[in-house]
Formats: sequence, structure tokens, C-alpha cells
Amino acid sequence: MSVGTGQDEKEMRPAAEPGLNDAAGRREREDRDGSVIRYDLQSLTIDELTDAVRLAGEKPFRAKQIYQWLHEKIVAGPEEMTNVPKKLIDALTEKYPFVSPEIRTVQVSKIDGTRKYLFRFADDCYVESVYMVYQHGHSVCISTQNGCRMGCRFCASTIGGLTRNLSAGEMLAQVYAIQRETGERVSNIVLMGTGEPLDNYANVVRFIRMITGPGGLNISERNITLSTCGIVPGILKLRDEKLMINLALSLHAPNDQMRREIMPIARRYSLSEIIPALKSYYSVNRRRLTFEYSLIHGVNDSDDAARQIASLIGGMNALVNLIPVNPVREAGFKAPDRTHVLNFKKKLENYGIHVTIRREMGRDIDGACGQLRKRCSEMETDR
Ligand code: SF4
Repeated sequence: MSVGTGQDEKEMRPAAEPGLNDAAGRREREDRDGSVIRYDLQSLTIDELTDAVRLAGEKPFRAKQIYQWLHEKIVAGPEEMTNVPKKLIDALTEKYPFVSPEIRTVQVSKIDGTRKYLFRFADDCYVESVYMVYQHGHSVCISTQNGCRMGCRFCASTIGGLTRNLSAGEMLAQVYAIQRETGERVSNIVLMGTGEPLDNYANVVRFIRMITGPGGLNISERNITLSTCGIVPGILKLRDEKLMINLALSLHAPNDQMRREIMPIARRYSLSEIIPALKSYYSVNRRRLTFEYSLIHGVNDSDDAARQIASLIGGMNALVNLIPVNPVREAGFKAPDRTHVLNFKKKLENYGIHVTIRREMGRDIDGACGQLRKRCSEMETDR
């Protein structure tokens, strides 16, 4: 195992133990910037785990053993850590619960093998994730929150509001459970399921660092895509993390006025703030940006909308991913027909914009799915 503690193991530094348990049994601590980190066993970094092991009166090498069980061998339960003393496991899991989501349902597409999972966590929190097989590897789309408070009118995930943020361990657990269940190595992650990732910033960044770091699945940062509705301070903060992950913006409207009608976040951050933030992000990591655009019949699919998009993003190294909107009963939206979608694509291309239309994955399980599968299957795969 290649994980190091980054310090002399003889040195006994004070352990930084997170605060009291929350209602769901997790410990929490406020990060320097005020965001709350949620702790469970799988959320602990190797340094934090080393501190916890020391506090339990054990030698630091036990932390490496445990970390390896959790993040490399991705065990399903604490009893599988066979070379770790039970007393230590009990002491740790009393403070930091072992995240062990129950798979409630798996829907499997007969067309392309897409698998949609519904997980249940210990506090009756239900979370959806999707596994997709592409030519370039196996991809998992995860949820970052239980519900969402962003209120986008075309999105079913927000209808009940935000219940709670997921911990890094709960995000990891979605990937690990799917890898265990399929027996396939996951190579790509999209943070495009339920929730706004930048509204759960600290836990999401912790998740990204852990899944890309040594001693875990070691997934390349370049194989991770984070989708945001446009929280400008979050984009700038993410830029400063200097991660090489891909960024996608849920654009969905060609101007602020229309955007404000369908995405409440647009009342807070205008496109004149978002676009420079994206350019600034690009200036650091040089990864092509994606603009997701849900086409809504009679709302944002006019020739003039195409012209406005072109003037907004022309000259950027960017791709527009067109998504004929899935009907959301509560919003009364419907998608344009195929011919109109193709015409809209052509219009954008005539302005020199790179465009893709969503590739539908798991079409035959779509009807039974919630919003998550719909949204992550919208990920165009031209990479
Ligand atoms: S589209 Fe994303 S940000 Fe908007 S409500 Fe849905 S989950 Fe939240």
C-alpha cells in the first residue's frame, strides 16, 4: 500500500477529533471557510485515521491497514478487516460509523447494460447512482446531496428541497458498492446526480481528493466531471484547489432574464459573473468546459437563443451538450421534436460552436427512474 502519513510516526501530535455526533450518527466539524465536514469511517483521511487510531491507544500502522481495507479492498463491512483487532474496530466505529449502504433496487437496461441503483443509508436517506459502460471505461454518476435546494424548475430532484448533505464517505460508498456489485473497475466519475456539488463543497472536494489520491481507487482527476448550476464563489474556490477535473455548467438559458425564470440561482449570480469565473477556471486547468443546455419546447429553443448562446461562449474551448428536456409534471415543460433539436444543433454549429446531443443510456429503464438517471445519462461521451 502506498499511503503515507506525511509525518514521522514517532511524533505524537494532538489528534484533531471532530465534534459531536449529528442525528445520523456522524461527527461534524466546521471547516476554515465555514462549511461543515461530515465524518464517518470512510470519510477520514489517512492522517485523521492515524490520529483516531492513536487516540484508541494503538500503533499508527493499524491506520494504514484499515485505510487499505476501506479504500483499496473496499470491504462491505468492518468484520471483513480480518487483520485488525476487533477492539480497535469497535472503538473506531463507535465514533465514526462504517458507511454501509443497502442496495434497495438495481434496474438493469437490456439495451446497453446501464444499471441504476437506489441506496439506503442508515438514517433512511435514499440516494440514487448510475453505472454506465462506455468504450472508454466504466462510469459512475453519484449524488452529492439528499435532495437539492437550488430549485431549478425543470428538475425533479429539487421538488422536496434539500434533506441533507452527503459525507465524502457516503459518496465513496456509492462508487465502492457499485464496483463490488458489478465486479468491474470504475474509471470515470460524474458528480451530476441529485444535489448541487458546490453547495456541499468541503465534502465533495474531500471525496475527489480521496478517490483520486494514493491508497484508494486512484482514479485520474481528468476522469472526473463536476456539474454545477453556477455558484460563482464555489467555481473560483475549486479553481484554487488546482484539481484537473472537468467542469460542466448547467446553462439551460441563453440570457439572465430567461435563466432567472427557470433557475433561481441566476438571481444570485449573473452570466456576466459566471462566464469570467469559468474562463478563470479554464485558465488554471485547461480542461474543456461543458455547457449543459436542456432544450425546452417554446422556451429556450429559438434561433435567437442559439445566437445568444454563441455570443456568450464563442471563442471559449467549450462544448454545448443539448438535452431535450424530460417532462417534469410540476413544471409543465416538454421537449422539442427531433427535427427541431437537430436544427438547433446546426444553428449553433454554424456559429462555430462544438455541440453534442445527449446519448441516451438505459432508455428502457428510464420510465421507472427518478431524475438522477435522466440527468447523468445526458452526459455526452465524445471523449
Ligand atoms: S438541476 Fe442540479 S442544481 Fe438544479 S435543482 Fe436539480 S440537482 Fe439541484
